[in-house]
Amino acid sequence: MTPRRREPPAGGFRRIAVLRLSSLGDVVLALPVVHALRRAWPGARLEFWVKEEYADVVRFDPALDHVRALERDARRLEDLVSMSAELEDCDLIVDLHGSARTRLLTFRQRARVLRASSYRVRRSRWVHARWTRPAPVPHALERYARALAPLGIATAGPPRVHAGAEAEAWAEAFLSAWAPGRPPVALCPGARHATKRWPEEHWTALHDALAARGLPVLLLSLESERRALPALDARAEGVAGTRWCTAALPHLAALLSRSAAAVTHDSGLMHLAAARGLEVVALFGSTAPELGFAPAGEGHRVLCRRERCQPCTLHGRPVCPRGHFRCMRELRPEAVAEAVATLAG
Ligand code: SF4
Repeated sequence: MTPRRREPPAGGFRRIAVLRLSSLGDVVLALPVVHALRRAWPGARLEFWVKEEYADVVRFDPALDHVRALERDARRLEDLVSMSAELEDCDLIVDLHGSARTRLLTFRQRARVLRASSYRVRRSRWVHARWTRPAPVPHALERYARALAPLGIATAGPPRVHAGAEAEAWAEAFLSAWAPGRPPVALCPGARHATKRWPEEHWTALHDALAARGLPVLLLSLESERRALPALDARAEGVAGTRWCTAALPHLAALLSRSAAAVTHDSGLMHLAAARGLEVVALFGSTAPELGFAPAGEGHRVLCRRERCQPCTLHGRPVCPRGHFRCMRELRPEAVAEAVATLAG
Protein backbone atom coordinates (compact mmCIF):
# COMPACT_ATOMS: atom_id res chain seq x y z
CA MET A 1 0.00 0.00 0.00
CA THR A 2 1.35 3.48 -0.90
CA PRO A 3 2.12 5.44 2.27
CA ARG A 4 -0.04 8.46 2.97
CA ARG A 5 1.77 11.74 2.17
CA ARG A 6 2.39 13.85 5.25
CA GLU A 7 1.04 17.39 4.91
CA PRO A 8 3.20 20.29 6.19
CA PRO A 9 2.23 21.27 9.73
CA ALA A 10 0.39 24.56 10.21
CA GLY A 11 3.56 26.26 11.48
CA GLY A 12 5.56 25.22 8.39
CA PHE A 13 8.03 22.42 7.83
CA ARG A 14 9.92 21.16 10.88
CA ARG A 15 12.55 18.94 9.27
CA ILE A 16 13.78 19.32 5.70
CA ALA A 17 16.35 17.23 3.81
CA VAL A 18 18.06 18.29 0.58
CA LEU A 19 19.62 15.44 -1.42
CA ARG A 20 22.45 16.04 -3.90
CA LEU A 21 24.99 13.28 -3.48
CA SER A 22 27.53 14.34 -6.13
CA SER A 23 29.46 15.75 -7.92
CA LEU A 24 31.42 18.76 -6.72
CA GLY A 25 29.89 21.27 -9.15
CA ASP A 26 26.32 20.03 -8.64
CA VAL A 27 26.68 20.22 -4.86
CA VAL A 28 27.89 23.81 -5.18
CA LEU A 29 24.97 24.67 -7.45
CA ALA A 30 22.49 23.17 -4.96
CA LEU A 31 23.31 25.83 -2.35
CA PRO A 32 20.82 28.51 -3.46
CA VAL A 33 18.05 25.95 -2.79
CA VAL A 34 19.40 25.40 0.72
CA HIS A 35 19.46 29.13 1.38
CA ALA A 36 15.95 29.67 -0.01
CA LEU A 37 14.60 26.94 2.29
CA ARG A 38 16.40 28.47 5.27
CA ARG A 39 14.93 31.90 4.53
CA ALA A 40 11.42 30.45 4.18
CA TRP A 41 11.56 28.22 7.28
CA PRO A 42 14.18 29.67 9.66
CA GLY A 43 13.13 27.38 12.51
CA ALA A 44 13.24 24.10 10.59
CA ARG A 45 16.01 21.53 11.00
CA LEU A 46 17.71 21.60 7.62
CA GLU A 47 20.02 18.78 6.52
CA PHE A 48 21.99 17.97 3.37
CA TRP A 49 22.75 14.46 2.08
CA VAL A 50 25.98 14.12 0.08
CA LYS A 51 28.79 11.67 -0.58
CA GLU A 52 31.60 12.17 1.92
CA GLU A 53 34.12 13.25 -0.74
CA TYR A 54 31.98 16.36 -1.44
CA ALA A 55 30.77 17.03 2.11
CA ASP A 56 33.27 19.84 2.67
CA VAL A 57 31.35 21.98 0.16
CA VAL A 58 28.42 22.22 2.59
CA ARG A 59 30.02 21.39 5.94
CA PHE A 60 30.67 25.01 6.95
CA ASP A 61 27.42 26.50 5.67
CA PRO A 62 25.61 28.20 8.58
CA ALA A 63 22.22 27.58 6.92
CA LEU A 64 22.57 23.83 7.54
CA ASP A 65 21.97 22.04 10.84
CA HIS A 66 23.37 18.71 9.71
CA VAL A 67 25.38 17.19 6.85
CA ARG A 68 24.68 13.50 6.24
CA ALA A 69 27.85 12.25 4.55
CA LEU A 70 27.48 8.90 2.76
CA GLU A 71 30.60 6.86 3.40
CA ARG A 72 32.32 5.24 0.40
CA ASP A 73 31.78 1.73 1.76
CA ALA A 74 28.10 2.22 2.63
CA ARG A 75 26.32 2.84 -0.66
CA ARG A 76 24.99 -0.60 -1.50
CA LEU A 77 21.31 -1.24 -1.95
CA GLU A 78 20.84 -2.61 1.54
CA ASP A 79 22.79 0.31 3.04
CA LEU A 80 20.56 2.84 1.29
CA VAL A 81 17.40 1.06 2.41
CA SER A 82 18.69 1.15 5.95
CA MET A 83 19.72 4.85 5.67
CA SER A 84 16.30 5.79 4.33
CA ALA A 85 14.92 5.24 7.84
CA GLU A 86 16.83 8.40 8.85
CA LEU A 87 14.55 10.41 6.56
CA GLU A 88 11.32 9.16 8.12
CA ASP A 89 10.96 12.15 10.44
CA CYS A 90 11.26 14.66 7.59
CA ASP A 91 8.18 16.49 6.40
CA LEU A 92 9.89 17.79 3.24
CA ILE A 93 12.56 16.19 1.03
CA VAL A 94 14.05 18.07 -1.92
CA ASP A 95 15.77 15.60 -4.26
CA LEU A 96 18.04 17.57 -6.61
CA HIS A 97 19.80 14.43 -7.83
CA GLY A 98 17.04 12.19 -9.14
CA SER A 99 19.38 9.19 -9.27
CA ALA A 100 18.53 5.56 -8.53
CA ARG A 101 20.16 6.05 -5.13
CA THR A 102 18.11 9.09 -4.14
CA ARG A 103 14.93 7.44 -5.44
CA LEU A 104 15.68 4.49 -3.20
CA LEU A 105 16.28 6.81 -0.24
CA THR A 106 12.97 8.57 -0.81
CA PHE A 107 10.91 5.53 -1.79
CA ARG A 108 7.90 5.14 0.51
CA GLN A 109 8.74 8.23 2.57
CA ARG A 110 5.66 9.95 3.95
CA ALA A 111 7.26 13.37 3.54
CA ARG A 112 6.46 15.50 0.55
CA VAL A 113 9.21 14.87 -2.04
CA LEU A 114 10.10 17.52 -4.63
CA ARG A 115 12.49 16.63 -7.45
CA ALA A 116 14.50 18.64 -9.97
CA SER A 117 13.92 17.73 -13.59
CA SER A 118 17.04 16.35 -15.29
CA TYR A 119 16.21 17.25 -18.94
CA ARG A 120 17.94 13.99 -19.81
CA VAL A 121 16.29 13.69 -23.22
CA ARG A 122 17.13 17.24 -24.27
CA ARG A 123 20.73 16.81 -23.17
CA SER A 124 20.95 13.60 -25.08
CA ARG A 125 19.65 15.38 -28.20
CA TRP A 126 22.48 17.90 -27.85
CA VAL A 127 25.01 15.07 -27.98
CA HIS A 128 23.38 12.59 -30.36
CA ALA A 129 20.80 14.51 -32.43
CA ARG A 130 21.73 18.17 -32.80
CA TRP A 131 20.00 18.11 -36.19
CA THR A 132 16.71 18.19 -34.21
CA ARG A 133 17.75 21.69 -33.04
CA PRO A 134 17.25 21.24 -29.29
CA ALA A 135 16.80 24.34 -27.15
CA PRO A 136 19.56 24.99 -24.59
CA VAL A 137 19.13 22.98 -21.41
CA PRO A 138 18.20 25.29 -18.52
CA HIS A 139 21.14 26.03 -16.27
CA ALA A 140 21.41 23.67 -13.30
CA LEU A 141 20.66 26.63 -10.99
CA GLU A 142 17.37 27.15 -12.78
CA ARG A 143 16.49 23.45 -12.79
CA TYR A 144 17.12 23.23 -9.07
CA ALA A 145 15.17 26.44 -8.37
CA ARG A 146 12.18 25.05 -10.28
CA ALA A 147 11.99 22.16 -7.81
CA LEU A 148 10.89 24.71 -5.19
CA ALA A 149 8.11 26.20 -7.34
CA PRO A 150 5.34 24.10 -5.73
CA LEU A 151 6.26 25.72 -2.40
CA GLY A 152 5.95 29.24 -3.81
CA ILE A 153 9.51 30.17 -2.83
CA ALA A 154 12.42 31.28 -5.04
CA THR A 155 16.20 31.15 -4.92
CA ALA A 156 18.23 34.37 -4.93
CA GLY A 157 21.48 34.87 -6.80
CA PRO A 158 24.36 32.52 -7.54
CA PRO A 159 25.76 30.06 -4.96
CA ARG A 160 28.22 31.05 -2.28
CA VAL A 161 30.41 28.45 -0.55
CA HIS A 162 31.69 28.79 3.03
CA ALA A 163 35.22 27.49 3.62
CA GLY A 164 35.31 27.61 7.44
CA ALA A 165 37.46 29.69 9.81
CA GLU A 166 40.41 27.29 9.90
CA ALA A 167 40.77 27.23 6.10
CA GLU A 168 40.40 31.02 5.85
CA ALA A 169 43.18 31.54 8.42
CA TRP A 170 45.36 28.93 6.65
CA ALA A 171 44.94 30.71 3.29
CA GLU A 172 45.90 34.05 4.84
CA ALA A 173 49.05 32.48 6.28
CA PHE A 174 49.85 30.72 2.96
CA LEU A 175 49.69 33.97 1.01
CA SER A 176 51.57 35.95 3.68
CA ALA A 177 54.42 33.42 3.62
CA TRP A 178 54.53 33.44 -0.19
CA ALA A 179 54.03 37.25 -0.44
CA PRO A 180 53.49 37.43 -4.21
CA GLY A 181 52.76 41.18 -3.97
CA ARG A 182 49.39 41.00 -5.70
CA PRO A 183 46.52 38.49 -5.86
CA PRO A 184 47.57 35.52 -8.01
CA VAL A 185 45.80 34.10 -11.04
CA ALA A 186 44.51 30.64 -10.10
CA LEU A 187 45.03 27.93 -12.72
CA CYS A 188 43.03 24.72 -12.18
CA PRO A 189 44.39 22.15 -14.67
CA GLY A 190 42.45 19.13 -13.38
CA ALA A 191 39.24 17.43 -14.54
CA ARG A 192 38.05 13.87 -14.13
CA HIS A 193 37.59 13.10 -17.84
CA ALA A 194 40.43 13.39 -20.37
CA THR A 195 38.38 15.13 -23.08
CA LYS A 196 37.57 17.95 -20.66
CA ARG A 197 41.26 18.62 -20.05
CA TRP A 198 43.31 21.20 -21.93
CA PRO A 199 46.65 19.78 -23.17
CA GLU A 200 49.53 20.11 -20.73
CA GLU A 201 51.65 22.08 -23.21
CA HIS A 202 48.88 24.70 -23.42
CA TRP A 203 48.78 25.04 -19.63
CA THR A 204 52.55 25.44 -19.62
CA ALA A 205 52.39 28.10 -22.36
CA LEU A 206 49.65 29.94 -20.47
CA HIS A 207 51.68 29.81 -17.28
CA ASP A 208 54.70 31.26 -19.08
CA ALA A 209 52.62 34.02 -20.70
CA LEU A 210 51.14 35.08 -17.36
CA ALA A 211 54.52 34.91 -15.62
CA ALA A 212 56.02 37.06 -18.42
CA ARG A 213 53.36 39.69 -17.65
CA GLY A 214 54.50 39.67 -14.01
CA LEU A 215 51.33 37.95 -12.77
CA PRO A 216 51.78 35.54 -9.85
CA VAL A 217 50.33 32.11 -10.65
CA LEU A 218 48.72 29.72 -8.19
CA LEU A 219 48.12 26.20 -9.51
CA LEU A 220 45.33 24.36 -7.66
CA SER A 221 44.50 20.67 -8.08
CA LEU A 222 44.43 17.24 -6.51
CA GLU A 223 47.84 15.71 -5.83
CA SER A 224 47.13 12.98 -8.42
CA GLU A 225 46.39 15.65 -11.04
CA ARG A 226 49.68 17.37 -10.26
CA ARG A 227 51.57 14.09 -10.72
CA ALA A 228 49.88 13.63 -14.11
CA LEU A 229 51.32 16.97 -15.34
CA PRO A 230 55.09 16.59 -14.81
CA ALA A 231 56.19 19.22 -17.35
CA LEU A 232 53.90 21.87 -15.87
CA ASP A 233 55.01 20.87 -12.39
CA ALA A 234 58.67 21.23 -13.34
CA ARG A 235 58.01 24.65 -14.87
CA ALA A 236 56.11 25.81 -11.77
CA GLU A 237 58.98 24.66 -9.55
CA GLY A 238 61.41 26.90 -11.36
CA VAL A 239 59.47 30.19 -11.16
CA ALA A 240 59.50 32.30 -7.98
CA GLY A 241 56.10 33.82 -8.70
CA THR A 242 54.40 30.43 -9.01
CA ARG A 243 53.10 28.01 -6.37
CA TRP A 244 51.19 24.72 -6.70
CA CYS A 245 48.78 23.84 -3.92
CA THR A 246 47.06 20.45 -3.53
CA ALA A 247 45.39 21.10 -0.16
CA ALA A 248 41.90 20.00 0.90
CA LEU A 249 38.80 21.48 -0.69
CA PRO A 250 38.06 24.17 1.96
CA HIS A 251 41.65 25.39 1.71
CA LEU A 252 41.47 25.56 -2.09
CA ALA A 253 38.19 27.48 -1.71
CA ALA A 254 39.83 29.94 0.68
CA LEU A 255 42.73 30.48 -1.72
CA LEU A 256 40.38 30.97 -4.67
CA SER A 257 38.58 33.88 -3.03
CA ARG A 258 41.95 35.58 -2.51
CA SER A 259 42.88 35.26 -6.20
CA ALA A 260 42.38 37.76 -9.01
CA ALA A 261 40.76 35.35 -11.49
CA ALA A 262 40.71 31.63 -12.27
CA VAL A 263 41.22 29.52 -15.38
CA THR A 264 39.45 26.18 -15.22
CA HIS A 265 38.05 23.37 -17.29
CA ASP A 266 34.34 22.53 -17.21
CA SER A 267 34.94 21.08 -13.75
CA GLY A 268 33.94 21.19 -10.11
CA LEU A 269 36.63 23.78 -9.38
CA MET A 270 35.04 26.02 -12.03
CA HIS A 271 31.84 26.11 -9.98
CA LEU A 272 33.75 26.39 -6.70
CA ALA A 273 35.76 29.36 -7.99
CA ALA A 274 32.61 31.16 -9.17
CA ALA A 275 30.93 30.41 -5.83
CA ARG A 276 33.85 32.05 -4.05
CA GLY A 277 33.14 35.28 -5.94
CA LEU A 278 35.84 34.86 -8.58
CA GLU A 279 35.48 35.66 -12.28
CA VAL A 280 36.41 32.57 -14.24
CA VAL A 281 37.85 31.84 -17.68
CA ALA A 282 36.18 28.49 -18.39
CA LEU A 283 37.57 26.17 -21.09
CA PHE A 284 34.98 23.82 -22.59
CA GLY A 285 36.21 20.76 -24.52
CA SER A 286 33.99 17.79 -25.30
CA THR A 287 31.01 19.33 -23.47
CA ALA A 288 29.31 22.69 -24.08
CA PRO A 289 27.73 25.48 -22.01
CA GLU A 290 24.38 24.72 -23.67
CA LEU A 291 24.18 21.54 -21.58
CA GLY A 292 23.39 23.75 -18.57
CA PHE A 293 26.67 23.95 -16.68
CA ALA A 294 28.28 27.30 -17.49
CA PRO A 295 29.83 29.06 -14.47
CA ALA A 296 27.09 30.77 -12.45
CA GLY A 297 27.01 34.54 -12.05
CA GLU A 298 28.27 37.53 -13.99
CA GLY A 299 31.58 38.44 -15.56
CA HIS A 300 32.88 35.00 -16.57
CA ARG A 301 34.54 34.24 -19.92
CA VAL A 302 33.42 30.96 -21.44
CA LEU A 303 35.79 29.78 -24.18
CA CYS A 304 34.27 27.10 -26.37
CA ARG A 305 35.27 26.42 -29.99
CA ARG A 306 31.84 25.08 -30.96
CA GLU A 307 33.36 22.53 -33.31
CA ARG A 308 30.86 20.62 -35.43
CA CYS A 309 31.46 17.55 -33.28
CA GLN A 310 30.99 19.47 -29.98
CA PRO A 311 29.52 18.43 -27.57
CA CYS A 312 30.29 14.75 -28.11
CA THR A 313 29.45 13.65 -24.56
CA LEU A 314 27.44 14.70 -21.52
CA HIS A 315 30.23 14.28 -19.00
CA GLY A 316 33.52 13.51 -20.76
CA ARG A 317 35.39 10.65 -22.42
CA PRO A 318 38.76 8.94 -21.97
CA VAL A 319 39.84 9.89 -25.54
CA CYS A 320 38.61 12.03 -28.42
CA PRO A 321 36.53 9.71 -30.63
CA ARG A 322 37.66 11.62 -33.75
CA GLY A 323 41.32 11.53 -32.81
CA HIS A 324 42.04 15.20 -33.57
CA PHE A 325 40.85 16.66 -30.21
CA ARG A 326 40.34 19.95 -31.99
CA CYS A 327 37.92 21.30 -29.34
CA MET A 328 40.79 21.67 -26.89
CA ARG A 329 43.92 21.70 -29.05
CA GLU A 330 42.66 24.69 -31.05
CA LEU A 331 41.84 26.70 -27.92
CA ARG A 332 45.06 28.66 -28.07
CA PRO A 333 46.99 29.74 -24.95
CA GLU A 334 47.30 33.29 -26.37
CA ALA A 335 43.51 33.66 -26.45
CA VAL A 336 43.20 32.33 -22.90
CA ALA A 337 45.95 34.68 -21.70
CA GLU A 338 44.07 37.60 -23.28
CA ALA A 339 40.86 36.55 -21.53
CA VAL A 340 42.73 36.38 -18.23
CA ALA A 341 44.16 39.85 -18.84
CA THR A 342 40.66 41.30 -19.18
CA LEU A 343 39.79 39.91 -15.73
CA ALA A 344 43.06 40.20 -13.81
CA GLY A 345 44.64 43.20 -15.50
S1 SF4 B 1 37.22 17.26 -30.84
FE1 SF4 B 1 35.05 16.79 -31.04
S2 SF4 B 1 34.92 14.58 -30.92
FE2 SF4 B 1 36.91 15.16 -30.11
S3 SF4 B 1 36.61 15.32 -27.90
FE3 SF4 B 1 36.30 17.35 -28.80
S4 SF4 B 1 34.11 17.52 -29.14
FE4 SF4 B 1 34.58 15.35 -28.86
